[in-house]
Amino acid sequence: MIFSDYHTHTVYSHGTGSCEQNVLAAIERGLSRIAISEHGPAHLFYGVRNERLRALRREVDSLACRYANDIEVLLGLECNLTDFGECDAPDDAPAMCDVLLLAFHKGVLLKSPFMRRLGGEAFGFTKNDPIKTAQALLTAAEKYRITAFSHPGLYVKSDIATLAKGAAELGVLLEINGARVTMSKEELELANELGANFLIGSDAHKPKNVGNFTLALDAAREAGVIDGVLNYVPDLPEPIFLPGYASEVRGVGAES
Ligand SMILES: [Zn+2]
Ligand SMILES: [Zn+2]
Repeated sequence: MIFSDYHTHTVYSHGTGSCEQNVLAAIERGLSRIAISEHGPAHLFYGVRNERLRALRREVDSLACRYANDIEVLLGLECNLTDFGECDAPDDAPAMCDVLLLAFHKGVLLKSPFMRRLGGEAFGFTKNDPIKTAQALLTAAEKYRITAFSHPGLYVKSDIATLAKGAAELGVLLEINGARVTMSKEELELANELGANFLIGSDAHKPKNVGNFTLALDAAREAGVIDGVLNYVPDLPEPIFLPGYASEVRGVGAES
């Protein structure tokens, strides 16, 4: 089974549950570690920044103490690519956050020509060089010490060979996203061959979706890359989800 969920959202951004509800859901699913990973500060609509991020840190610390016997509770941040090789991880992110995810998201100001081209692709107007997109993510990942790329290929295409090779060199993980699998079977196989490792995250926006890895596990198994999923433990049984659970997760809001 998957023992940790590094990608969950709460009311701090556009999720529907509290941090505590996510933690309780994770305990119920039998997870041993959960991160509350909200959207980075540059996201115009959902970004968690400044005092609000510090309040979130305090709340996560308080929950970590309260549930220390049941689960490890971490603070993550789902950072936004803001320019080639740049993201919105705050200066104090290494001290403030336990886990940093990185992805391109809509809803970020497109300040440079490079970002405007990505925005054009995300909104369906233009096509980009996927190799350059992958390089932009990798350069930022190295600079900001990113843990994993969340939902690679969502909104804008990244060249998987470039991304996977670079991720393997840097030790950055490729997320297999539980709300929607963004890499094809062939891309997962290629990334695996190139030495990349994976992280499965739920990208839950509701507490009941915390720890739901059904789609991601199916994709990892089908592509034969499950051994490269670093938060997978082979000898534990999977938690049982109610029928229809996975299909409901597919309906998670467009922006994740
Ligand atoms: Zn996202
Ligand atoms: Zn997310």
